[in-house]
Amino acid sequence: MASSSGLGKAFKHLDLDGHELPPSPAPSSPSNGRKYALATELVYTESNDQYNASSVPIYQSATFKGGPGQEYDYTRSGNPTRTHLERHLAKIMNANRALVAGSGMGALDVITRVLKPGDEVVTGDDLYGGTNRLLTYLKENNGIIVHHVDTTKLDVVKETITEKTTMVLLETPTNPLIKIVDIAGISTIAHEVSTKIIVAVDNTMLSPYLQNPLDLGADVVYESGTKYLSGHHDVMAGVIGVNDLQLADKFYFMINSTGCGLAPFDSWLLLRGIKTLAVRMEKQQANADAIANFLESHGFKVRYPGLKSHPQYKLHWSQARGAGAVLSFETGSIALSERIVESTKLFGISVSFGCVNSLISMPCRMSHASIDPAVRKERAMPEDIIRLCIGIEDLDDLKDDLSQALVRAGAVKLTDNGFTALSADALEEAGETGRTTQVTDEP
Ligand SMILES: *Cc1c(COP(=O)(O)O)cnc(C)c1O
Repeated sequence: MASSSGLGKAFKHLDLDGHELPPSPAPSSPSNGRKYALATELVYTESNDQYNASSVPIYQSATFKGGPGQEYDYTRSGNPTRTHLERHLAKIMNANRALVAGSGMGALDVITRVLKPGDEVVTGDDLYGGTNRLLTYLKENNGIIVHHVDTTKLDVVKETITEKTTMVLLETPTNPLIKIVDIAGISTIAHEVSTKIIVAVDNTMLSPYLQNPLDLGADVVYESGTKYLSGHHDVMAGVIGVNDLQLADKFYFMINSTGCGLAPFDSWLLLRGIKTLAVRMEKQQANADAIANFLESHGFKVRYPGLKSHPQYKLHWSQARGAGAVLSFETGSIALSERIVESTKLFGISVSFGCVNSLISMPCRMSHASIDPAVRKERAMPEDIIRLCIGIEDLDDLKDDLSQALVRAGAVKLTDNGFTALSADALEEAGETGRTTQVTDEP
């Protein structure tokens, strides 16, 4: 880029005039100009606001005056704050177009509305409870055929995908079993059967900061903005990213037709949250990694893709840039697990994850309670599993809180140099047998 100033000549390698910098929000094209690193893109937003407001204004208006042909007329169809968020997200998700809905489930509803009676969906057996519930509804009421298979097994997936398959719906890592699903491998298998098969990936567990399913061959990525993207548990949102603009138009048609687009204030909140995604994620996953190692070193069975002991460690790192901040571990006893969950002070008992503070839960009692206990058993979901969602607190405080909870719950045996998890024999001796308690309802 030739510059008329002398400076331009002296610093030829620098783009002093900024002509080669991507505008932000980027237009609907990931290949437009030079790209910054993701941590930079996250905070770099620019608008054409008339007063150069540093924070994008909230257009809290249902209608916009003017005649036909103007950019905005009615907020259900489009709103400047929402558009700004969608363009910013498209850039971050490496998508040609992004769309935002009122929640993660709202986003999945939009995506699954392209399905017609008789269509077949191939999906996992360790799905988010709400996803499972929506798919069950579609199966029972809309004539959609849903195959739940172990998506960690490529040969099983290959057997199940046929010309009748319309959609493949994946989650990775799964939650709470933390199983890893080969996004590129399954996308290839599906597209070899038919290029029309829509491979959709729920990326909530890692966020665009750590994993970009579209780059791995998926057709649609969606995630709950309620989790890491917003990061503060103060807003519900759902996000969809696509490269195929015709498919994007179909999704936009649904959002406009059903009125589930994200509200202006919520769009603004999500936009604010996204700016700190990199620092939050880095700190949360560093804490999570330390806690996973801490629990494993004390003899617990821990599931976390950052641990070398994870059976799919290699696969995970071939498609993601980090292990995230959700892990789970087993104690060998439901009663013990319940006492641990009740004994923590810093770790709040709550469904959900992705917030700046740490949370603890028993998925079989909470987020996955809507899955039939018999089905949970069939899918090898240990009823005593405890899920930890790690926040940005001081690491030593988190470890201390967990340690005192493990000791108070009687989950560990004190040793000369600390403590260690109880063996199966010790559990039996202590009468710590699994029992079924009342199941709470899922949100
Ligand atoms: C939370 C969550 C959803 C649903 O998102 P909401 O914003 O709660 O509707 C979907 N998938 C996963 C993996 C989730 O954790």
